[in-house]
Amino acid sequence: MSKPVVRFAPSPTGRIHIGNARQALMNALFARREGGTFVLRFDDTDLGRSKREYADSIEVDLAWLGIPPDVVVRQSERFALYDDASARLRDMGRLYACYETAEELEFRRKRQLARGLPPVYDRAALKLSAEDRIALEAEGRRPHWRFRLEHRNEVWQDLVRGPSHVDTSSLSDPILVREDGTYLYTLPSVVDDIALSITHVIRGEDHVTNTAVQIQIFEALGPHVPIFGHINLLTTASGEGLSKRLGHLSLTSLREAGLEPQAVASLAVLVGSAESVRPIADLDDLARLIDFDHISRSAAKFDERELESLNARLVHDMPYERVKDRLAALDADGGEEFWEAVKGNLAKVADAPAWHRVAFGPLEPVIVDRVFCEAARDVLPAGPWDLTTWKTWTEAVKAATGLKGKALFMPLRLALTSLEHGPELATLLPLIGPERAKARLSGETA
Ligand code: GLU
Repeated sequence: MSKPVVRFAPSPTGRIHIGNARQALMNALFARREGGTFVLRFDDTDLGRSKREYADSIEVDLAWLGIPPDVVVRQSERFALYDDASARLRDMGRLYACYETAEELEFRRKRQLARGLPPVYDRAALKLSAEDRIALEAEGRRPHWRFRLEHRNEVWQDLVRGPSHVDTSSLSDPILVREDGTYLYTLPSVVDDIALSITHVIRGEDHVTNTAVQIQIFEALGPHVPIFGHINLLTTASGEGLSKRLGHLSLTSLREAGLEPQAVASLAVLVGSAESVRPIADLDDLARLIDFDHISRSAAKFDERELESLNARLVHDMPYERVKDRLAALDADGGEEFWEAVKGNLAKVADAPAWHRVAFGPLEPVIVDRVFCEAARDVLPAGPWDLTTWKTWTEAVKAATGLKGKALFMPLRLALTSLEHGPELATLLPLIGPERAKARLSGETA
């Protein structure tokens, strides 16, 4: 296979969510695996709704996920190309002027439905003569432009869904250019896919019908038609579609919630595939797991709790070297031993400072039995402390107090950590050290 060139083409009208991330990752990781190129194309022809701020946040999100694009293009800077393509289509007789108002179209649609006919545009405008058009324009009407479909069973070999087809005679000729000369999504997308030599159009399955239309536009403009792949969409756990507008699970919010990008990427890529959903720390490994032949046909449900569990599992396996700088930024770099002691108790890296306080203070102890705690304090072994100190000490405490089991451990844990649960005390104790341990067992903040 020659090197693929793929694109992720969001319209920057909001923050992208995990469903968009799924499409971006499928493209980017496929390109990465095959040594290809990943293009980020902003579909910002709608100048009213598109915002630079959203485009910039999408770039930040992709960089955070670990898939910065190789190339960035903005459709708002490429209108000349679209003008040129629409002129060509007009010359070929594939783009024709229509003058119906929205109300007229709606009226016709209702009439067709009432007669039990499919609400397909009747191509009345194709029958207009030059004089008719002049007369309409004299009334002040401006044309919008429709692409004349060839009615046939449009077939393609879908990268994901296998043999696919859409009967284009059941579709209205799509409007490519609005009355005010602005472009709808359909044409600019094809023009750019041609101009950027896109080899694979990998996108959500909500675009299947567009594909039939766009294949005809590709063929009209020539010379090449890319391979298409339509990936199932993500829904919420309750089955609702994700919406940019509603700010569903935006990547920005997941990032701000302190989730690891690899947790988001693992879930976004593996959910609804033949692979089990599991945390994959390395994007190259994740890229190898993408298998377009075995992506489920039905919508994949995205469960936020699954994301949290993937995140925790990634953190539990995270080597100190990889997290060191982040711990420092959180004022919680307690060294490798500290990280190894506490990481198993973290849901997020951002939870580390709480344990840093437990290990290194200041911490207000919880004393449930003052006499017991002082007795335990008085038999603390001399330093230096290591992983065996806990056992030596608790045996001495048992001998001195006669207590054992939970009655012995819980008051010690509460005094030393102020909490009922946490990492093994055997690993925490050497970090806490003799001085703090002594103070805490005496009821002093340390
Ligand atoms: N802007 C379109 C969308 O977000 C792009 C679709 C495509 O990939 O062609 O749905």
